[in-house]
Amino acid sequence: NLSELIKSLLINYESIFINKNQHLEKNIEDDIFVVADKDRISEVLINLLVNANKYTGEGGNIKVKLYNEGQFAVITVSDNGIGIPKEDLPFIYERFYRSEKSRSRDYGGSGLGLSIAKAIIKAHNGTINVESILNQGTKFTVKLPIIN
Ligand code: ATP
Ligand code: MG
Repeated sequence: NLSELIKSLLINYESIFINKNQHLEKNIEDDIFVVADKDRISEVLINLLVNANKYTGEGGNIKVKLYNEGQFAVITVSDNGIGIPKEDLPFIYERFYRSEKSRSRDYGGSGLGLSIAKAIIKAHNGTINVESILNQGTKFTVKLPIIN
């Protein structure tokens, strides 16, 4: 039950957002089921949540949504943080890649999270995509095949 998994992750990770005075908006549709490795999908979602938290300043807004779109469960994690420069977008899923913007501002991290996320989602026959505007924010969209 992807809905319950996401709800419990959001409860467990609520404190990282509270600590930066970030507003967390949740819009989680009930009872969306997928066939998936629960631990691996949790790992993907935690990286997206931690990224949104880390690359968004104090008082920012983070939105997490889950909804059913035809044969896919769609998860979106959006923030209004530092954004990713357009020229860096093609590389963010590469191992150890970190945008110049994140490195220069001294955010912690190894640059592995998204490469692992991409491999995990691919292994589930899903997709992961990003939309980002520098200094405005970032939105990650993960789609996983649904069972009906
Ligand atoms: P870690 O291995 O701890 O996850 P990381 O967060 O630096 O380290 P990734 O999660 O793979 O690595 O992200 C790669 C890079 O993409 C980041 O270093 C950052 O430059 C950029 N990035 C990822 N998510 C966001 C986001 N929500 N807002 C802005 N930049 C982001
Ligand atoms: Mg990360």
